[in-house]
Amino acid sequence: MDTDYDVAIIGGGIVGLAQAWMAARNGYKVIVFEKTSVAEGATVRNFGMIWPIGQPAEELYQIANRSREFWLELGDAGALDVEPCGSIHLAHNEDEMQVLQEFVNQQTHAAELISPAEICQRSSLVNPEGLLGGMYSDTELRVDPRTAAERIRRWLAEKFSVQFHFETLITSVDGNEMLSSNNQRWNAGKIIICSGSDLNTLYPEHFAKSNLVLCKLQMLRSVAQAKPLPENIPHIASGLTLRHYTSFNCCPSLEMLKNRIARQAPELDKFGVHVMASQFSSGEVILGDSHEYGENISPFDKIEIDELMIRELKKVIRLNDWTIKEKWHGIYAKHPDLPVYEEDINESVSLFVGTGGAGMTMSFGLANKYWNDR
Ligand SMILES: Cc1cc2nc3c(=O)[nH]c(=O)nc-3n(C[C@H](O)[C@H](O)[C@H](O)COP(=O)(O)OP(=O)(O)OC[C@H]3O[C@@H](n4cnc5c(N)ncnc54)[C@H](O)[C@@H]3O)c2cc1C
Repeated sequence: MDTDYDVAIIGGGIVGLAQAWMAARNGYKVIVFEKTSVAEGATVRNFGMIWPIGQPAEELYQIANRSREFWLELGDAGALDVEPCGSIHLAHNEDEMQVLQEFVNQQTHAAELISPAEICQRSSLVNPEGLLGGMYSDTELRVDPRTAAERIRRWLAEKFSVQFHFETLITSVDGNEMLSSNNQRWNAGKIIICSGSDLNTLYPEHFAKSNLVLCKLQMLRSVAQAKPLPENIPHIASGLTLRHYTSFNCCPSLEMLKNRIARQAPELDKFGVHVMASQFSSGEVILGDSHEYGENISPFDKIEIDELMIRELKKVIRLNDWTIKEKWHGIYAKHPDLPVYEEDINESVSLFVGTGGAGMTMSFGLANKYWNDR
């Protein structure tokens, strides 16, 4: 036995880091195992959008906003750059405007309708052609997904003495003991499995019954745009995203909007295309995304999806240079009803997996709730 820890986290993505932080905040001695040499799962492949506006009113919106406070705390502590950029949902169709109007009327989220002129003032990215209006929310944040996990890891190691073991695949857990692929044994009072989209290595029989599904997203990154950038330029979401985020399910006109898209552009539903854009201080813009589930997931990316995303993006944003610098895909696990799938295997071992498309937004708040509820 190498050493004893109060809490062991298996998985060094944002969910594992959030668990490690909240356990360490509660005074526990924490160790994190990550099978790769640097985090390379969904946590480094996303938009870097902290997106409370996508969460339905009440509990989930509150958890997202609590998470947001934790991100701001990390920014204040100098762990990484956190931009309070806000977001704009654009309406280029009457039904999109109607959904936004209904949403704002509910007064459940900190959001307001703004005119096309105000939108263009807030973001030079927006295509004013056919723009009817939009919704501004100031709760959204931007972090750099490529570096965030590594920066948080360093901060946790320095501030809370959290131990990290990279290139360490945990192959089995027995009681309080973990075995790694290089035959080392480790021991911890509590073991939390945050294995992201890996549902096969540990407790596959539990995951098989969990209702978790895998979802693949294709993403793009443009070259840097020529124009000098103002700070904190808001994330942009097209009207298509209203179909995706459950916060809008309360809007009576959403069905009409969904039906129009199903009629006019079934190819968007087929690949779950709903477009968003986020411009970084480098001038580059992360663009996406699509959603393919379960057995439709292939290791190969579809050019057709990239073309559909660009087609829809060109309706809502303007870039000086549409040259795509990088393409990639990411996979996350998602539960159909829950913000995260939690299961206590026994007194010592828990699964904490499946934050879907909102892991950056929700992980700190969910992990905080997990430790507060104990
Ligand atoms: C393309 C894309 C865009 C997204 N955009 C956003 C966004 O803008 N905002 C937002 O809130 N969310 C977004 N998400 C969702 C978010 O990225 C995920 O919910 C989140 O990253 C999941 O984190 P995780 O730690 O569970 O998974 P991962 O980041 O995949 O981490 C899991 C880690 O566990 C390790 N691991 C697994 N098994 C073992 C084992 N047995 N031993 C050791 N290590 C192990 C893996 O190597 C991996 O590093 C997006 C997701 C994708 C794919």
